[in-house]
Amino acid sequence: MKSIATVALKGALPDKLRAIAAAGFKGVEIFDPDLTVCNETPRAIAALMADLDLTCVCFQPFRDFEGLSGLERQRAFSRVQRKFDTMGELGADLMLICSSVAPEASPDLDRIAGDFAELGDIAGSRGLRVGYEALAWGRHVHDHRVAHDVVKRADHPSIGLILDSFHSLARRIPIDSIAEIDGKKIFLVQIADAPEIGMEPLYWSRHFRCFPGQGDFPVTDYVEAILKTGYSGALSLEIFNDRFRSWSANQIAHDGLRSLVMLEDQLATVATAAPDLVVLPARERPTGVTFIEFAATGAEAGQLEEVFKSLGFSRCGEHRTKAVSRWSQGAINLVLNVEPTGFAHAHAVTHGASVCAFGLGVADADQVMARATGLGAASFSQGHGPGEFQVPAIRGVGGSLVCFTPAAPGPDFWDTDFAPHPDEAARPAGLLRVDHLAQSMPAEEFLSWQLYYTSLLNMRRTPTLDIPDPSGLVLSQAIETDDGATRITLNGAGGQTLASRFVNNYFGAGVQHIAFSTADIFATRQALLDNGVELLGLPANYYDDLQARFDLHDAFIARLAQGQLLYDRDGEGEYYQLYARAFHKRFFFEFVQRKAYQGYGAPNASVRLAAQDRVGAIPAELAV
Ligand code: MG
Ligand code: MG
Repeated sequence: MKSIATVALKGALPDKLRAIAAAGFKGVEIFDPDLTVCNETPRAIAALMADLDLTCVCFQPFRDFEGLSGLERQRAFSRVQRKFDTMGELGADLMLICSSVAPEASPDLDRIAGDFAELGDIAGSRGLRVGYEALAWGRHVHDHRVAHDVVKRADHPSIGLILDSFHSLARRIPIDSIAEIDGKKIFLVQIADAPEIGMEPLYWSRHFRCFPGQGDFPVTDYVEAILKTGYSGALSLEIFNDRFRSWSANQIAHDGLRSLVMLEDQLATVATAAPDLVVLPARERPTGVTFIEFAATGAEAGQLEEVFKSLGFSRCGEHRTKAVSRWSQGAINLVLNVEPTGFAHAHAVTHGASVCAFGLGVADADQVMARATGLGAASFSQGHGPGEFQVPAIRGVGGSLVCFTPAAPGPDFWDTDFAPHPDEAARPAGLLRVDHLAQSMPAEEFLSWQLYYTSLLNMRRTPTLDIPDPSGLVLSQAIETDDGATRITLNGAGGQTLASRFVNNYFGAGVQHIAFSTADIFATRQALLDNGVELLGLPANYYDDLQARFDLHDAFIARLAQGQLLYDRDGEGEYYQLYARAFHKRFFFEFVQRKAYQGYGAPNASVRLAAQDRVGAIPAELAV
């Protein structure tokens, strides 16, 4: 059963429960503080859970129970029994007790086990169970092996163990220790991932937990080891994350379910003999960005055509039935959609001229769509004329579409919909293919879109970087195939950064820049200038710093400075970058040349951002 703890989500308890059920969970852990602050009675919450077809898999947490003495011990037992009453009304049969942090608690494991044995009798008489969880920062018990020892010593049918991947993995407890646990004594498994950020466990846990697949912990191995003990109960997400709790409960619950589906799919592929695991078609490795579709209305449509021409694209096709044109250069295909109705039009009206869709080449689009559906992605289709090609598509960042085309779409793909356009005298700029697309989004959505791509496609993520913008920080991470053929960078925008203004002023996230590759950046630069493209200017200080960092020859640095090129190195690899001024100060094009270089020029990003800030990337009338 897929479950999630209410603490992960924003809102009042009934709203959380509705979001959890809407996402498709069948189980829920009720976080006691969520109930405490709620106006509804436990019975009303129980009725709501029943209406929503949700099972309460756990009521949690109960703190500082064990190892006390005298009056403190009596009070702990009476507190627990008050909570047992609440559980009765709530219809919960399992209580989580986490290891004590109380300074006065005894470290004596026999005494602790004795407390649990006595509590087991009380719980058992009421048809309830208690699970003991080792907090990573517990005073005496902070290792699941010790909690397991306590459970064995208590030796009571109503007392079992609760395993939480965060607590075990943050303390680097060997995963193979799980093999020693009897699966029947594991009462619940809580799952959280986290980034490796070297932090004191309490703060790390309370603020930086994330869904499996979003962090760096070996969560799949951990859960696999648990399933091998014979455990067949709920897998429950227990996430404390500031961004999750400030964002849409529906979105976060949806992401949570997706992460569990992905986890189950991974577990199924390691041939764990657990029933009911989701199995999806394998992740396909996309072969590259096969087209980029722009939507525009009114005067912006003509302006965008002029931009395409100046970048060296030639108009090579006209849609047979729609106001849509195809532009190409090298292996790059741009589509300009100026239809007066439909999805692209609505996108342009909402966001201004912008990228409304892009295509990824795949070997089997049906298989990708089946996996996408299994992961809860929203598929998209729009009416199409007889004989017109329908490209399978799902909703992506900012309501745009990700389409799946053949790996190398040729004439049989394009000529169905597009009639050849008479040759125009193109002035090509040596652009070869799409090197990468950069998408901007609110910082709160950053992990959502990371999971979206990595759960669906065989793409890896690079470490998250903080890029300084003149007005704040931008989180940046690349999602890329291991051969580098498909590269998408995600920018999570906070504060008043350029990326954030882009997101706020154009009503949502989307493609903020498109990088094309060239085999000769100097020749491309000259061709672009000859075509009248305005390139972004850079400060002289940048070249002084560059020369100091890489010990470059005077003649070479002079050539870079004269060309206003950005440059980076990675071992023997070299990277050259050029930027065009933004279209309506909104989105922009980048031109890159890679020589055995795998990155994205991260050291140059803040220089570029400052340069764009100087020229005013957002028109004054739109700036907030
Ligand atoms: Mg926990
Ligand atoms: Mg870039």
